This record gives sequence, C-alpha cells and structure tokens, in this order.
Amino acid sequence: MKKIDSYLKQLQREEVLHEQGILQIFILIGQFVFLSSIYYLTSKRDKKLTKEIQGLLKTTRWKVRVLKGTKSLYNACSLSTNSVFVTQGLVRTSTHRELIAVLLHEVSHSRTLDSLSSVAVGTGSYILGFFGGLILAGTLPISGLFSYVLALTMTLVLSEIGSAAFMRQLEYKSDSFAVKYGYGDDLISAFAKIKKMWKVPKCTSIFCKLKEKIDSWFADHPEDKKRADHILKKKEFYEAAKKGPATVRRYLKGALVRG
Ligand SMILES: [Zn+2]
Repeated sequence: MKKIDSYLKQLQREEVLHEQGILQIFILIGQFVFLSSIYYLTSKRDKKLTKEIQGLLKTTRWKVRVLKGTKSLYNACSLSTNSVFVTQGLVRTSTHRELIAVLLHEVSHSRTLDSLSSVAVGTGSYILGFFGGLILAGTLPISGLFSYVLALTMTLVLSEIGSAAFMRQLEYKSDSFAVKYGYGDDLISAFAKIKKMWKVPKCTSIFCKLKEKIDSWFADHPEDKKRADHILKKKEFYEAAKKGPATVRRYLKGALVRG
C-alpha cells in the first residue's frame, strides 16, 4: 500500500513538472510572437534614421521603426529581427546623438539575438529551479508538503536571480557596442533623460533603499550608477585602444591593478 502511495505521489510530481515547464515555454513563445506582431503593426519605418544607422554600421541590414501612438512613452526595444523600435516620446525628447546611442544599444541586442537567448535562459533556469527543488526537497531534514514548498521556493528564487544576472550582462554588452562607436556619453545622458521622463521617485528612507537593493537582484537591467561606471570604463578602454598598443598595454596593466 505504502509503495503504491509513493508511486502515485511521484507520478503527481512529474505531472506538475511537465505541465509547468511546457506552460512556461508556451507563455514565453506566445509573448514573443504577440509582441513582434504588435510592434510591426503599430510602427512606421523612419527612413532618415534607418539611413543613418545603416551608414554608421556599414550594412543595410538594420531598419529603424517608430512606434505609433507612443508620444508619452520613452523607450526603445528590439526583438532579434532586423528592425529596432523606438517610441515617439524618445525621438521627441532626445538629442540626435542620444537617439543614435540608444539605437546602437538596441542593434547590439538584435544582432546577438538577445531576446531569444533571454527566453531560452529564462525557461532553462525555471526548469532547472524546478528540478533542483525536487532534489532539494528530498534532502531537507523536514518532510511533507512544507519541505516541498520551501525547497521549490528557494531554487526558483535562485534561478530567477541567476537569469536576471545573465540579462544584466546583455545590457552591459549592448552598452559597450554604443561606446565602441563613440556614443558613450550620449548613452549616459539618454538613460538619465529616460529616467527623468518616467518620473522615477527618489529613494531616501532605509526601507526604500532595502527594497531597491532586493529589487536589483531580480532586475533585468543594471542599476544606473553601475551602468554609467561601466560605460565610462569602456570609453576609457576604447580611447586607449585608439592611441596604440603601448597605451593599451599600460591601460590593461592599470585595470588589473585596479581590479
Ligand atoms: Zn537593453
């Protein structure tokens, strides 16, 4: 009797795992298809910006599309296709160079298929967290439903933190791409402007700061300050690289010392 019972429980667990994993994949693919269709249907190609980006990147692959009905939105995005999207609000409030900086950042996401790898890593880490939870539940000193819920929560939270960290690396990588073309300062000022336009409230109380800290572990974008520091460091690197091998060597030695 006991054997049948545990067998049934095992089956139930497998079923839950199966449903959750598949469901997550469908949700993510659905989101991707839905968003792509919406973006294409509600956007118009900007010939001037397209020409400029194509000239800068020396390829005709990239097209810039402006999303209609987005006068009060300040954002840009790409979906691993040959188009990058930008809102009317951002076009209106940015300087020309800030706009190009943001578009270069988005092109970088698109050319390395970041939205697809984010979906893959997000799904993979979720499934891994689920499997990890099952294994961990069996090793915990406590038993029953509580150990199952606790183990699952722990591994799923860890997998969320892991995939968010991966996505933040994609942001740093895309920032570097804009810096490489000489648009580092403009990218920093574009981010500052976007933050101002979105009216992000300033955090002063200790609880707000604590919440901000915890949020940052789960955020798929790096904190502003870390991002600006990274851009400036990259800028220094590319400027040194332009000046010749000896300077690069000196810079790299300095970077190693500074850590
Ligand atoms: Zn980005």
